[in-house]
Amino acid sequence: MDSTPSEPFGLLVIGSGPAGVHAAAAYVEAGGPGRVGLVSADVDEPYQRPPLSKAVLAGEEPAEVTPILEDESASAWAKVDVRLGTHVEALDLARQVVRTEDGQELRYDRLVLATGSDPVPLPGAEPEAQVFTLRSLEHGRRLVDAVADARSAVVVGSGFIGCEAAASLAGRGVRTTLVTPEPAPQAARLGEWAGARIAEWLTAAGVQLRTSVKVESVEPSGKVRLDDDSVIEADLVLAAVGVTQSRTFLEESGLSIDDGHLVVDDGLRTSDPHVWAAGDVALGHHSVVGRALTVEHWGDAMTMGELAGGNAATHGEDGTGDPDKWSDAPGFWSEIGEHTLKYSAWGDGFDDVRVVEHGQGAFTVWYADAAGEVVGVLTHERDEDYERGGELLARRATLDEALGATSAGVS
Ligand SMILES: Cc1cc2nc3c(=O)[nH]c(=O)nc-3n(C[C@H](O)[C@H](O)[C@H](O)COP(=O)(O)OP(=O)(O)OC[C@H]3O[C@@H](n4cnc5c(N)ncnc54)[C@H](O)[C@@H]3O)c2cc1C
Repeated sequence: MDSTPSEPFGLLVIGSGPAGVHAAAAYVEAGGPGRVGLVSADVDEPYQRPPLSKAVLAGEEPAEVTPILEDESASAWAKVDVRLGTHVEALDLARQVVRTEDGQELRYDRLVLATGSDPVPLPGAEPEAQVFTLRSLEHGRRLVDAVADARSAVVVGSGFIGCEAAASLAGRGVRTTLVTPEPAPQAARLGEWAGARIAEWLTAAGVQLRTSVKVESVEPSGKVRLDDDSVIEADLVLAAVGVTQSRTFLEESGLSIDDGHLVVDDGLRTSDPHVWAAGDVALGHHSVVGRALTVEHWGDAMTMGELAGGNAATHGEDGTGDPDKWSDAPGFWSEIGEHTLKYSAWGDGFDDVRVVEHGQGAFTVWYADAAGEVVGVLTHERDEDYERGGELLARRATLDEALGATSAGVS
């Protein structure tokens, strides 16, 4: 890829995750003018991240590229100039130029920022201690190699990635301990009832749970010291303690930023009229719920990427025109061992929780705000409630309506 001063890219995309790849393809498919370029720090062809903590870590699938785009977008993708293994280190909004670490200046007419998230390091780990994180395919390869020689593992963090990874490791015979400051896995996000259910699944999968404790230090020998003075010896330590979207080049760019997220309107345009943002990095104004949301979900990154790329292709720089608006209710699936959870929610908290048990382990958890409006749904083996939950969220229905059809067994 090269760009001369006289020929800017019609669209330049930063990031080769689902948001970036879908933005580039959507721009081409919408007939956007000019050449399309995509720059990514990732060294691999675009791939799916979700299998990394599931089938790949469980040893059921190889750690290799699994394509992001559907076959019908192959011809659009073929038109994109892709440059992998290249960090962007500066963005000059006034000159409409992106500078890469190898000193190239790439000019753009329109820009989509889809730089996603990075795992945060584990506090207290000594510099020489080997603590794995899991975000990229390269991380996945390194982790899978290390697991081959490991008989014991400590997973730190009980978010979805921590829970999935712990179940995958235990499932392949590694003695696995999950350490979390939460009283139960994901209790803060999903409530105590769901947390207790996930704890049961993990325990049944062979995971030792250490709840309400924090890691104080990790020594190079693999000793993990907890704040209740206990020590766990592990061949392998995986930290899944959260992610950050913060990047120096974005902070320095002058774009409107809130806690590392790029602030965008409901058409995903940033504070600069030539620049859109999509996926994990965006703090987007959601057109249905009427407030700003962040989401860290695969499917939503795809949707937001398509929206940003399509709007960049068709929407006037001066704000004229009618951009497509971000309107889907966020949602995702998680596989914890043999159990699948489906979750759709605005993702910014809840005041009320109602549990409906359907027998044989199936359940639905409804979440509502203080005004009684549905703000989320979590299901296990109950797809009809997951689908209905998305519809109820989209029309801002009440908890009473959600429970109306299933009042039996509510607690
Ligand atoms: C192990 C794992 C399992 C997951 N499982 C699920 C799941 O089951 N369901 C679900 O909904 N979500 C899941 N997620 C979350 C999901 O993968 C993310 O929400 C999604 O990838 C976000 O997409 P994105 O395009 O915004 O960013 P990312 O996928 O993070 O991509 C960002 C891209 O930007 C590039 N980049 C960053 N900075 C720079 C720079 N300075 N210069 C150049 N390039 C840069 C990166 O290299 C990368 O290519 C999982 C995530 C992980 C890590």
